[in-house]
Amino acid sequence: MGLDSMLRGTMRINERGHLEIGGCDCVELAKEFGTPLYVFDELLIRENCRRYKKAFAQNYPAESRVCYAGKAFLTLAMCRLVDDEGLWLDVASGGELFTALQAKFPPERIYMHGNFKTEDELKAAVRNKIGRVVVDCMEELERLDSIAASQNAVAEILLRLTPGVEAHTHEYIRTGQIDTKFGFHIENGVAFEAVKKALSLKNLKLRGFHCHIGSQIFEIEPYRIAIEQMFSFAAMVRSETGFAMQELNLGGGLGVRYVPEDDPPSIEAFVAAICDWVKESASLLGFELPSLAIEPGRSIVGEAGTTLYTIGVVKEIPKVRTYVSVDGGMSDNPRPALYGARYFAVVANKASQTPNKIVTVAGKHCESDILIRDIALADPEPGDILAVFTTGAYHYSMASNYNRFPRPAVVFVRDGKAKLVVRRETYDDLLRCDQLVD
Ligand code: PLP
Repeated sequence: MGLDSMLRGTMRINERGHLEIGGCDCVELAKEFGTPLYVFDELLIRENCRRYKKAFAQNYPAESRVCYAGKAFLTLAMCRLVDDEGLWLDVASGGELFTALQAKFPPERIYMHGNFKTEDELKAAVRNKIGRVVVDCMEELERLDSIAASQNAVAEILLRLTPGVEAHTHEYIRTGQIDTKFGFHIENGVAFEAVKKALSLKNLKLRGFHCHIGSQIFEIEPYRIAIEQMFSFAAMVRSETGFAMQELNLGGGLGVRYVPEDDPPSIEAFVAAICDWVKESASLLGFELPSLAIEPGRSIVGEAGTTLYTIGVVKEIPKVRTYVSVDGGMSDNPRPALYGARYFAVVANKASQTPNKIVTVAGKHCESDILIRDIALADPEPGDILAVFTTGAYHYSMASNYNRFPRPAVVFVRDGKAKLVVRRETYDDLLRCDQLVD
């Protein structure tokens, strides 16, 4: 297993033996736009959006909403694409909301998240009449109600619940008391208190419930547990208050392939399973099928993104290891440092050659800044272009200016054309907020 299993979407090795994405030779992209460079396969993003929508259309007879989780990667162009594909959008901050509105994303198709939404963020949500605010805590219920009242509006809300299951890749834990800052806990009664409060506030309209059980999930069983918990809570609420859940939002979480060994479920298998479980629970407990939403981020953009770097230094420490240093690092990809995340890469200009050297890819920041430990590359040399796969989600959106690195450019590639959707930052950009004081 190696490169073949990592070639997704429009990726291929072309006649020159170079990696090609969206009909564009990666070596030419690096020449034209410089490195580091985030390259997105536009057709693959669109295909992922369509696969989600189609899978719901085939498996769920009531309304469904695929809400792209903007935290994974959000720019004006991405908002346009998401709108174009008819998805909804989940934003988690005032800045993400601003980006969406500037891109003319229809506000009625926006969900707003956050464990602490500021007054200004809530005001913007109400003023712009966004589709749903996903309320996370008691304080927010009151705050949002009074903001809505002051604007003569009614805010439509979901309550974010903690259903007692937390999942990541192959592991999940089932517990009543998850230690998390997010949402209302079902187990300790706070969620029920929140429902009663929400129903009592005149300027809020409760539509249903939300949960998000984790990220980079390969095992879909935890969703079954979460769905059952959400329905059994909804049934208790219905019998105690008369309120019948109309909407259920199951958050994001489906995993993607970062390294050849990763084997996440397909979008189709994931959607079919959750639709089945929702239908089962609804019928068992006598609910009409709720409007069903999910919030995929990583599984829409993760595999569609590739980062191109220029190799600058190859340092062999005899009998220890060979370091290959590239012109980016933890400022464009903080995930290895944050979570020990693993990656796969290929020398883009030697993509048809057999990888013959085990090396460690290092960034150029003033930390150990390791991007990939122990990977086989084809004879890496200074000047080569290194392509690191699966960097579409939580890379550009988490990028920083650490060490005063300008953030890389972002291009969408399709049919042999590259569109610059975010220009590279300049040194002047680094100073745009600095003030000289005496
Ligand atoms: N929805 C919520 C509430 C989240 O917190 C997240 C990620 O943290 C997502 C959706 C997107 O998750 P993913 O990118 O794993 O699909």
